[in-house]
Amino acid sequence: MFQTPREVIIGGRGNTKRIVIGGKQPVTIQTMWKEGITDVYNDSNALNSIIDRIRELQLLGCDILRFAVPDENSAKSLIALSSLTDMPLVADIHFDYRLALQCAKGNISVIRINPGNIGERSRVEQVVQACKDNNIAIRIGVNTGSLPKDLEEKVLNNTISRAEALSETAAREVAVFDELNFSQVVVSMKASSVKETIDANECFAQKYSVPLHIGVTEAGPLIGGIVKSTLAFSTLLNEGIGSTIRVSLSSSPTNEVIAGREILRECNKREGGVQIVSCPRCGRLGFDVHGFIDRWQTELLSMKKNITVAVMGCVVNGPGEGKHADLGITGTGEKAIIFKKGKVIRTVDAKDADNAFREEIELF
Ligand code: SF4
Repeated sequence: MFQTPREVIIGGRGNTKRIVIGGKQPVTIQTMWKEGITDVYNDSNALNSIIDRIRELQLLGCDILRFAVPDENSAKSLIALSSLTDMPLVADIHFDYRLALQCAKGNISVIRINPGNIGERSRVEQVVQACKDNNIAIRIGVNTGSLPKDLEEKVLNNTISRAEALSETAAREVAVFDELNFSQVVVSMKASSVKETIDANECFAQKYSVPLHIGVTEAGPLIGGIVKSTLAFSTLLNEGIGSTIRVSLSSSPTNEVIAGREILRECNKREGGVQIVSCPRCGRLGFDVHGFIDRWQTELLSMKKNITVAVMGCVVNGPGEGKHADLGITGTGEKAIIFKKGKVIRTVDAKDADNAFREEIELF
């Protein structure tokens, strides 16, 4: 019913990791950098600090990272970053095809640009040629706010749905690249409604084999955004639609990546890594579950270990409910208790909880 997406190669030049998306390849996770990079191209401290943060995102499971490139200096910064990391980077460009040509000179893996925004045909041809010459993929992104006039009118006349218009808009953009014999294209169609996102992606995937980057745009703050993205992604991923995902949140890239990996795990699209199970906490608590999770979540999820960790609020229910976990921690107030598969292996003063936990997890 839905087309198998063709494969598109992301990265692979220089030191950059090579990722294949589409086909039967694992679904990849993306996020977007949330700060401007205009001023960092000649500031090695600033560049190195970004590289450190990119490494953290990589450890968490981020496969591809996108940067907005609104001006020439941002392009210079992105090119500088691309020589310092093996993370495949995406240059997000609106309107100015010259920025795309500039970025293509660096080690950029994907250019996000829409032919409809670039203007005359010769400009599109130049961008495509630069991408062909440098093995750069192109991501086309269309959203409900920027439909072509004729399609918007059809939507207003109820001739077609907004989702169908979105799919048709993407198909028109892809057709331009087909004419130029360029197939390394990924499409994203975004609406802020879950239903429109699902419908548009289903509509497109019935007809075309172009890999889809799925996302709900303007999904909202942390909780609302994760709810919307989970609903949309789980439906699409379970239908086999979606080669790469981004959970778009009014929150940090770290939270976007964590949300993405949890969705993929629950949809059986990604395995391995540390899985955290934890209790919500209640009046029986003898251990500060929330504080421990806040301190440890990012570090645990960045570990290259395939284990389940339980963080439970009390000894009454903690070890029992966490008995399937490889390692768990709970407490009685003054004491912290560490357990494995439900069996207590260590009791320490509460103040030593983190150190004892670290010693135990390092044994895995
Ligand atoms: Fe409450 Fe204990 Fe259950 Fe946590 S494990 S929710 S503290 S009873």
